[in-house]
Amino acid sequence: MSHRVTLIPGDGIGPELAEATRRVLDASGVEFEWEVVDAGEAVMAEHGTPLPEGVLESIRRNRVAIKGPITTPVGEGFRSVNVTLRQVLGLYANLRPARSMKGLETRYENVDLVIVRENTEDLYAGIEHMVGRDAAESIKIITREASERIARYAFEYAVANGRRKVTAVHKANIMKLSDGLFLDSCRTVAAEYDGRVEFEDRIVDNMCMQLVQKPEQYDVLVLPNLYGDIVSDLAAGLVGGLGVAPGANIGPDAAVFEAVHGSAPKYAGQNKANPTALILSGVMMLRHLGQPEAADRVEGALREVVAEGRATTYDIGGPAGTSQFADAVVARMGVTAAR
Ligand code: NAD
Repeated sequence: MSHRVTLIPGDGIGPELAEATRRVLDASGVEFEWEVVDAGEAVMAEHGTPLPEGVLESIRRNRVAIKGPITTPVGEGFRSVNVTLRQVLGLYANLRPARSMKGLETRYENVDLVIVRENTEDLYAGIEHMVGRDAAESIKIITREASERIARYAFEYAVANGRRKVTAVHKANIMKLSDGLFLDSCRTVAAEYDGRVEFEDRIVDNMCMQLVQKPEQYDVLVLPNLYGDIVSDLAAGLVGGLGVAPGANIGPDAAVFEAVHGSAPKYAGQNKANPTALILSGVMMLRHLGQPEAADRVEGALREVVAEGRATTYDIGGPAGTSQFADAVVARMGVTAAR
């Protein structure tokens, strides 16, 4: 059976990473039919929008997409395609695992965190305005419905994946109403899992310090949108950087898989960037599609190539380019299959 998947190459380093990922996934033993659609800077002039309706239609039809990063202008210009996609398609859960990889020089060897970030509201609701000329106001939206929904996702993930603890992260000491509501919602849901999954909460600033000092004490973290965005980059830093941090945006009707990192424009077109994060997002996609053996095959081969270090990219200390890394992973899958 072949899986029809929407592929959005993206901007900057996106297209070369998407190509590397497609080659690796095609070699996984699973058959894909790729529907390639463009979004981002490149289509702006032609369509007058960085997110043409055809892209949304394709994702709605196929229900599964994998995308390269898309540039968002800072301060002015179009609204983030990434944020819009998540909101329009109701991709309410942003799942960002951070797991140590053998062969990478990092401060800790046994990090195994899963960040579950609420993906639709908070300060990312995009409601902001000027108040006169010299003041600006951004509105932070937190609802019980979205908070309970993301907390339930975190607990269900913990149960399904044999995880022991969920930590809710907030700033309810200062934002007593908005973050207070998020925390209260997490506590309500946690009660349903009492005896099955441990629950605790941490204030976000303390959480950052704790993660840098003793990440092994944490397991699944559930956070509102903004803290989730920031803490997931911190978690990526613990396991080797943005080049190795995968992610998924999941909703009831569709799922979009993408790396945590952005389009790193300064490396675009140089065959330099690390495709690990997008390939590992592809591994998450394989699991989502009910292909766990193929997922294990790709992840196993990739981890072996990283552990050896001979065909890895610059950011993790290796001499290879994007496409050579993908070649090595494909070759390693062949070797593993022949074993
Ligand atoms: P970035 O993640 O693109 O890059 C920051 C730095 O991290 C790079 O300069 C590079 O040193 C390193 N890096 C990132 N990905 C790498 C990879 N695969 N291999 C090797 N090194 C890598 O962050 P930024 O510079 O803040 O953002 C650039 C653009 O990307 C912005 O327009 C931003 O809005 C956008 N962005 C998009 C997404 C997304 O599509 N989901 C996510 C984050 C940022």
